[in-house]
Amino acid sequence: MKDIISAPFLIEMVRTCTNMYAHGWDERNGGNISLLLDETEVSKYLQPDCVLRTIPTGFSAPTLEGKYFLVTGTGKYFKNVQYAPEVNLGLVRLTEEGRTAELLWGFADGGKFTSEFPAHMMSHAVRLEQDPDNRVVMHCHPTNLLAMTYVHDLDEKRFTRTLWQMCTECIVVFPDGVNVLPWMLCGTNEIGEATAEKMRTARLVVWAQHGLYGAGKDLDEAFGLIETAEKAAEIYMKIAHLPLVNTITDAQMHLLEERFQVRAREGYLSAE
Ligand SMILES: [Zn+2]
Repeated sequence: MKDIISAPFLIEMVRTCTNMYAHGWDERNGGNISLLLDETEVSKYLQPDCVLRTIPTGFSAPTLEGKYFLVTGTGKYFKNVQYAPEVNLGLVRLTEEGRTAELLWGFADGGKFTSEFPAHMMSHAVRLEQDPDNRVVMHCHPTNLLAMTYVHDLDEKRFTRTLWQMCTECIVVFPDGVNVLPWMLCGTNEIGEATAEKMRTARLVVWAQHGLYGAGKDLDEAFGLIETAEKAAEIYMKIAHLPLVNTITDAQMHLLEERFQVRAREGYLSAE
């Protein structure tokens, strides 16, 4: 059995948490990540039948039965993940149609998974229906996107179009756009279900006055999506109060679609 601390998935998770903290997106215990793992990958490092504890999840997600997730812990600081991964992270397997999580490694101080576990697991279930390769759900508090939800209207099409107009690469990186949830109480099954529903049509879901959810095939893709949207929001916050002289037109967006072989979300651009 190899030491899990040397597992590429664990190293990448620790690096991602550290990097997100360095970007200022995960103050205090803000933010959480869940990464779907294969059983064959996990069993190089752990005995799958050696369960340390079982933890009720408080929801059901039958399609995730038997799946393994590496996930950040509740109340834990991204800042500290690199110094004590076995305390701040945990590896769980979902059983009983998702109602129970079996802890196989981590949460060594008796802790448990993030309070946003319902939003993560329900989002995984929906994203896997759209894309069987989706492995990551990531939540954080990117400063400029959060700021934007105070001054920009929350209509999804208008919010998306503003971000697309802020830098040329945006429509290429997230042609599916950004969905938006109005302010809701976090940590509940209700916000979990609402987030998952929004994940049907986009990989980025803004939580107004709170933060952002991103999903992707791997940690790099989810991080890159958030990074790109946050850069666009930063530009918006720098220029929103100034007279707008130039923009990226819909005709130019169509050129980007053609050049990069992407298709903008239906109905979000004017006809060619
Ligand atoms: Zn949050």
